[in-house]
Amino acid sequence: MLESLQDGLQSAFRTLRGQGRLTESNMRDGLKLVENALLEADVSYDVVKAFMQEVSEKAVGQDVLKSLKPEQQLVGIVNEALIELLGGDSDPTLHLKQDVTVLMMCGLQGAGKTTTCGKLARLISKEGKKALLCAADLQRPAAVQQLHIVGKSVDTPVYSEQGATDPIAVCQNAVKHAKDNGIDVVILDTAGRLAIDEELMQQLKTIDLKVQPDKAFLVVDGMTGQDAVNSAKAFNDALDLDGVIMTKLDGDARGGALLSVKHVTGVPIKFIGTSEHMDGLDPFHPDRFASRILG
Ligand code: GDP
Repeated sequence: MLESLQDGLQSAFRTLRGQGRLTESNMRDGLKLVENALLEADVSYDVVKAFMQEVSEKAVGQDVLKSLKPEQQLVGIVNEALIELLGGDSDPTLHLKQDVTVLMMCGLQGAGKTTTCGKLARLISKEGKKALLCAADLQRPAAVQQLHIVGKSVDTPVYSEQGATDPIAVCQNAVKHAKDNGIDVVILDTAGRLAIDEELMQQLKTIDLKVQPDKAFLVVDGMTGQDAVNSAKAFNDALDLDGVIMTKLDGDARGGALLSVKHVTGVPIKFIGTSEHMDGLDPFHPDRFASRILG
């Protein structure tokens, strides 16, 4: 996938042949190409600027290794810095406890939260553990129904209370139910909203405080670019997020928003959604993603 950028770099570096050292001026054209590749991949402008600055600082003054062409060396530096920014050695495991592990899922409506709850339940049962989905989105009656459909499709029980109005009590009861019934993991499907609002954040904070989930995961839509970044920032300011799951990366999008989300929040990316189907959840690997972003 690096081919097109490398082709471009090859011509940008034609003048560099025979020069022994990477300098700001002889790298200018090459760096411009890298910058454009990142912008095309939908990485936000501020993040691109900060990243390019870092790469330039790393590269300037480096001797061109005899075994490499200068463009290969620069791509190597860019790639390394990208992997670092994406999270270096990522850890996409769920760290399940001996006791019941509670995962709180949050995100804006339509981000793919309920679908991702199902995907996680499938992953957990593949590991030989028992999951329970908890219908804590009482905002929309259809949400509870939808979770039941998802639960059925992944063969996972769903805890819901008919006519319930207090999502905190529903979560607490679900955790109790799990403890009493030998369930390993409870996945809380919390309410989404079309936009960030104070009431939503307050509800999540209260669940966080009273139910004490072991992990809080934010689900963001990878197709929404800068919106994904803004919502990730708002959720992370309100909650102590443990991980981000970015969905809908099965399309053409190069996924630059993911780089911006990581840069802006500092929260590790744990999984990526790669299809509408229940097995479309992949552990996130920074090294594989770096080449996708560079295109
Ligand atoms: P929620 O409102 O956040 O719970 O979102 P849903 O789980 O209902 O998902 C919204 C839409 O996005 C549905 O049509 C899902 O099938 C779709 N969706 C979720 N995750 C993915 C994904 O990784 N890839 C694709 N292509 N579609 C997804």
